[in-house]
Amino acid sequence: MEKNLKALVDKLETRHTLLRDEWISLIRWRTPLLSDYVFQKARAVRQHFYGKDVYIRGLIEFTNYCKNDCYYCGIRRSNPKAHRYRLSKEQILNCCTDGYELGFRTFVLQGGEDGYFTDERMVDLVKTIRQEFPDCAITLSIGERSYDSYKALFEAGADRYLLRHETWDAEHYSRLHPPQLSASDRQQCLWNLKEIGYQVGTGYMVGSPWQTPENLADDMLFLEKLNPQMVGIGPFIPHCNTPLKDHPAGTLELTLYLLGLIRLLLPKVLLPATTALGTIDPRGRELGILAGANVVMPNLSPVNVRKDYLLYDNKICTGSEAAECREDLENRMRAIGYQVVTHRGDSLNTNQERERNNRYV
Ligand code: SAM
Repeated sequence: MEKNLKALVDKLETRHTLLRDEWISLIRWRTPLLSDYVFQKARAVRQHFYGKDVYIRGLIEFTNYCKNDCYYCGIRRSNPKAHRYRLSKEQILNCCTDGYELGFRTFVLQGGEDGYFTDERMVDLVKTIRQEFPDCAITLSIGERSYDSYKALFEAGADRYLLRHETWDAEHYSRLHPPQLSASDRQQCLWNLKEIGYQVGTGYMVGSPWQTPENLADDMLFLEKLNPQMVGIGPFIPHCNTPLKDHPAGTLELTLYLLGLIRLLLPKVLLPATTALGTIDPRGRELGILAGANVVMPNLSPVNVRKDYLLYDNKICTGSEAAECREDLENRMRAIGYQVVTHRGDSLNTNQERERNNRYV
């Protein structure tokens, strides 16, 4: 069995594609030995394209108001215990200024789907950041919007957009979300973002309730088809005030394994070692880098609102200043032989380069 699975890893490494059944086997029958085999290869591919560089993105969590009611999320509309906040334009710009001084050249504006941030307000915000920080990339992560809205934000100066597809399978999606939200709408947003010209990031939670190896195989097939510039995966972690509070968290082991497989599937992709990974294990982010990840996203939000952007329980870094977070990550990366770099860190994984990827190895 082990031999057959190794052959599948070799195929993934050279051909960057697997059949659905092959993905299912690789995920269902994984062993610690096989994981090590994947990590070795994933690290080699990562180092071929990115050396020991770790890209950083400054995360600004600018609102936790949300009109959606995702069953897993701590900032869902129906959590009356969430203490709501919304940063002003001035506060957001201050975060960017602080971040710029700390060497950040990518700002990720993330928030719930907050009706206050109309197209008009978001366009104005993006235009101002673009003017004041012309050498920085602006990434938005503000959920599902119309094609025209995405287009207006792109024209205002946003370069990148993060929208996890959460799970490709429509039925699984419907168990995690209320009926107003659908897997197909979510995926359509991603295709729209791509068509408009954004560098796109997608992804999903590992170990979300009812997730099967078949679901994860479908997620891999979707990643192959979409060919995004970034893939963000992190363990599902229950939040005590949500309907899914009693479900177990996703594991470090499976998250690391999937990071390694994604690196082999999309060799040049930007792959963050997420905060959720650092939350379920104190060395989670370091292990993520060693499994093939190449991005970390320290928090630039003002400390007084950090503890309110609680998507899940026990989230790390809710008490430290941006400078401390950055320094801490820099030390952690240095300790495992990697270095944080401060340029914009654009993806090498453009569509045109997909073919060249395929010739690697
Ligand atoms: N509203 C935007 C959106 O829908 O993309 C951005 C904010 S949303 C809270 C960001 C991501 O947090 C989601 O895509 C989801 O995967 C993740 N998330 C939410 N609740 C989580 C939980 N309990 N455990 C782990 N990740 C969670």
